[in-house]
Amino acid sequence: MDLQVKVPIEVSARHLHLCPEHVEILFGKDYVLTNKRELSQKGYFVTVERVEVIGDKASALFSILTPLRKKTQIEMALTDARKLGVKPVLRMSGNLEGSAPIKLKGPAGELALSEGAIIAKRHIHMSTDLADEMGLKTGDEVSVQVPGERGGVLNHVVISADPTFDLTMHIDTDEGNAIDASPETYGFIIK
Ligand SMILES: [Zn+2]
Repeated sequence: MDLQVKVPIEVSARHLHLCPEHVEILFGKDYVLTNKRELSQKGYFVTVERVEVIGDKASALFSILTPLRKKTQIEMALTDARKLGVKPVLRMSGNLEGSAPIKLKGPAGELALSEGAIIAKRHIHMSTDLADEMGLKTGDEVSVQVPGERGGVLNHVVISADPTFDLTMHIDTDEGNAIDASPETYGFIIK
């Protein structure tokens, strides 16, 4: 590929997305979550409220991201999963069929979900224009070269293209620690 594309890398810590029905169960009828901080992806917020995620071995508090979704999804790194005693599967966000069962607890109630816990596949958000220019489309996989003393090549990075997306790569905390990621960390897309 002749186009040299430098992509900012962002680390996503464990978090979850809730559907409206589950907000009612965990927080009470007609409860409205309070947005605390907007994320770098415009229109996405982390809320003041948190949810206790309960595995076979332990539990931990997870941040909630809004807007609400059609299906509740719990995202964690493998280290979180080991501590909690959860066996999540590696998936792209939104692909929950057959994902791991998990329990959630809020101030108003508890939920035992038959699926919903995943380790999110690392991915790159990019505009459709850039994807076209690079000959890429949603679902394609690329490799990313990360410079630096603990740098390396990350393979199987899934492309997610949309006209509204800013160029960003999302990895989890295990992947971020492995490359010693900071807010200034970036990579180069290679094929
Ligand atoms: Zn993302």
